[in-house]
Amino acid sequence: MNDRYSEIRAALEHIRAMQVYFEVEFDLYPLALRYNHNHGPDGKFCSGSGVDNSGESGIIGFEADSVGYQDEPHDPPKFIKKIDINDNAAIERELKDFETNAVGKDYETACVITKSGEIYHCFGVKNEVYPDIDLQDKLRGAIVSHNHVKSETEYSFSNVDLDLFEKYELQTLRGCDHKFRYEVSRIFSNVDSEPEDWNTFENHRHSLVIEFASSRGYGYRRTKI
Ligand SMILES: [Zn+2]
Repeated sequence: MNDRYSEIRAALEHIRAMQVYFEVEFDLYPLALRYNHNHGPDGKFCSGSGVDNSGESGIIGFEADSVGYQDEPHDPPKFIKKIDINDNAAIERELKDFETNAVGKDYETACVITKSGEIYHCFGVKNEVYPDIDLQDKLRGAIVSHNHVKSETEYSFSNVDLDLFEKYELQTLRGCDHKFRYEVSRIFSNVDSEPEDWNTFENHRHSLVIEFASSRGYGYRRTKI
C-alpha cells in the first residue's frame, strides 16, 4: 500500500514538474505566466473597495471591485501594533515569530509591516492571501511575509507573489513553507546561483525566481529551514 502510494506521489510530482517545465518553454519570462494554480480568473490581483483607512482597526470590506477576480471569503486583517521601522532587529524578530507560527497552518496568512511601521496580519485561504485587497495603498513599499501551505507549496514564490512585489513596490517579500524560507528584495547583490538539479519539483520554481530576480535587478535568496 505504501509503495503504491509513493509511486503515485512520485508520478504526481513528476507531472507537476513537467507542467512547470512547459511553462518555461513556452513563455519568455515567468511573469508572463498569468495562470497558475492560485490565480484568479484574470490571473492578477486587483484592488478592493470600501476600505476605511481612518482608524487602525477600521479596515473593512474585501470585495474585489472589477473584471471577474473575486477573493474567497476570508477574515478581515488585524492591526497588531506599531514598530520602529528603523529597528531592523525588531523587524526581523517580528517576521521570524510570525513565520514560525504561520508555517504549520493549513491556510495562508501574511504579516505586513507598512512604511510607517504599522504591523497587520492578513488571513487568506488554502492557496491565497489578499494583503492588497485587505490593505490597499497601505501595502505600498511595505515589508511582507507569508506562508505557503504544505500541500500547495512550490518551494518558492508564485507569479502572483512576484506581481505583488512589483506592483506595490514592496521593500521585501518573504515566503516560507515546511522546508524553505525565501525572500525577494531590492538588494541586487544577494541572488542565489542556479542549482545544478534545477529540473526537480523542489527546485524548478526556485530556478524561475532566480531568473526573474537576475533579469529585473532584484535580490533573491532561499534557505532551508
Ligand atoms: Zn505566495
